[in-house]
Amino acid sequence: MVSGCGICGANLEDIDHIFRRCPVAVTLWNSLLHSDHLPEFYSLPIKAWLLANLSSSRTFATADPHWDLFFGSILWGLWPHRNDMIFNPHLVLRDSVLQRASRVRHACLAALAPAHGTLHQDRRLPREQVVWCRPKLVGIS
Ligand SMILES: [Zn+2]
Repeated sequence: MVSGCGICGANLEDIDHIFRRCPVAVTLWNSLLHSDHLPEFYSLPIKAWLLANLSSSRTFATADPHWDLFFGSILWGLWPHRNDMIFNPHLVLRDSVLQRASRVRHACLAALAPAHGTLHQDRRLPREQVVWCRPKLVGIS
């Protein structure tokens, strides 16, 4: 069994490598983020990195007001792009990761926007109070 990155040959192909360290990802992130933010972007632990980017549109202060959606869309686009590069090397890729991500981002924004208004900056759904109730014990003695 072959382990390691099928694109760059790195020894370890973990989630951090796939979405942040592989040259394909690095080129992408470097083209989107301001250079002042890159040291922090690349130094956060992977869980903190995912949380920082997916939970706020402001963490890395890109020009995109919906960075969190775009970030998730990029991850969504990176995975099939990598798979095509590794498992279908003769396939001519029609779209770049950014083109795929832009379409997903656009679809998300369209789905989240009210029918006749604009999308609010805070897209979180209102939280409901949920209380667990013990089920009634019937027929058990
Ligand atoms: Zn790699």
